[in-house]
Amino acid sequence: MFKVANLTTLAISLTTAMLWSTIFPSSVKTQDISLKKDSEILFHDSHFHLTNYIQKGLTTKEILGLMNNKIGRVALFGIPLQQKWDYFVSGDRNPDYYLSSDSELYYYSFVDAIIAKEYLKLSPEDQKRFDPMITGFNPTDMYATNHILQVLKLYPGVFLGIGEFSIHKEVVSSKVAGHTASLYNKALDKILSLAGDIGLLVILHCDIDEMRPHAGQRPAHFDNLKEVFQKHKNTRIIWAHTGLGRFVKPTPNHLNLLEEILRDKEFDHVYFDISWDEVAKYVIADEKITQAWANLLNKYPDRFLFGTDSVAPKTEKDYLKTYQDYQPLWKLLDNETSFKVRIGNYEKLFNEANQKVREWEKKNLSKIEVQMNQNKGVKINNFLIPPTTVAQDTRPLLLSK
Ligand SMILES: [Zn+2]
Repeated sequence: MFKVANLTTLAISLTTAMLWSTIFPSSVKTQDISLKKDSEILFHDSHFHLTNYIQKGLTTKEILGLMNNKIGRVALFGIPLQQKWDYFVSGDRNPDYYLSSDSELYYYSFVDAIIAKEYLKLSPEDQKRFDPMITGFNPTDMYATNHILQVLKLYPGVFLGIGEFSIHKEVVSSKVAGHTASLYNKALDKILSLAGDIGLLVILHCDIDEMRPHAGQRPAHFDNLKEVFQKHKNTRIIWAHTGLGRFVKPTPNHLNLLEEILRDKEFDHVYFDISWDEVAKYVIADEKITQAWANLLNKYPDRFLFGTDSVAPKTEKDYLKTYQDYQPLWKLLDNETSFKVRIGNYEKLFNEANQKVREWEKKNLSKIEVQMNQNKGVKINNFLIPPTTVAQDTRPLLLSK
């Protein structure tokens, strides 16, 4: 009897374990790839877009081929905005980038389903190399939080963060259909609060300034952004590109502004990524400037992450470009800083988010409807697609090159 009871208990625990591993296929990222002895890994990519502005791009299997043994893990997201092909603006010439057309951009929520499906079709071993992020919400919409909850419910065990999403972004903000995103908007507060409650890691794009700076003044968005950061101490936020862009250039004071955040305990939850080859141009502009950036990173080694900001790269060379551009910086970092910026900080932040979000899901998935209703949100049907059903569906995605 004892034996039978034990076997039954064992069977129940096994079934439970199997059930959880079915619902939460990657609930534990036990293996930090960088710790492998034979590692040739150059970096984990904290900022990567699988799809472009018309939702075309690579499959995760193709990107694995480009990552090879050089790139360990990748924060996986699409682009939440779609460039409209407006015949009355572009005629037969189809635009594939926001700078290729005067017509509007709009939020393309389906991108999250594309990312989830691309992730779920990988083997559990390959899934460990991807950290999927939710992006397909409109940050000016008080219902944006409902979208995030709905995605978590439909794809449990998949997503661990939100972003990269944009508030102020040169050229892009003014092209987005509808109300312009803003740091003053309460919808943003709701999003960041929800992220904090769940443990979702946030990658936020917000230019530090307007394209043409107001002479003699602090950068237009800097103090407002600090206020937003301050209101959300419970939320881990990576500020993308340290607020720089193709047209938003660093002022001579830029590194001092970053240090305002870095040295203040109020902002311990704020991190920076130095992704994008456009940003690398500023950092490696001349030796003195590179040394100044290196000094800041060496002083605050735990707060910076490297990312490529690559958008659907076609070759390994394309994909490694931003990393290569930064060679002058890598040479000036001490060993510990270099490791943390390229690998260590990624593992710390993404592993921690993964753990928190999986725990939150275990406790709250069944209550999501209630939460959405409390938010006066739309009621979604009471159904859940088990990830394995999706994972076994091997029909190719409509991602053509
Ligand atoms: Zn980006």
